[in-house]
Amino acid sequence: MQERVGSVIRWAAWLCLSMMLWTAAVESTHNHPSQTESTSCSICVVAHSTAPTASSNHVRPVFAAIGLLQEEEVVAKPRLDVFDFGIRGPPTV
Ligand SMILES: [Zn+2]
Repeated sequence: MQERVGSVIRWAAWLCLSMMLWTAAVESTHNHPSQTESTSCSICVVAHSTAPTASSNHVRPVFAAIGLLQEEEVVAKPRLDVFDFGIRGPPTV
């Protein structure tokens, strides 16, 4: 069963790859018999358009202190003592 799923995935991958290569080849080599058809072709319009310029309307970040961190020392308190387990503590010297 797993071999069948693996072969299906492999075939799908090869199909997608071949379609992608075929599409790239067709897009780069297609031509139009008249100029009017090329003006309505989306591939030609994109190919002959100018390079897009990067535009951004992002506001620059403002860094401001909004508070002061108050650190408090935390001391963990054990819930169980060693003797609660019935285990002998370390020998005292
Ligand atoms: Zn075209």
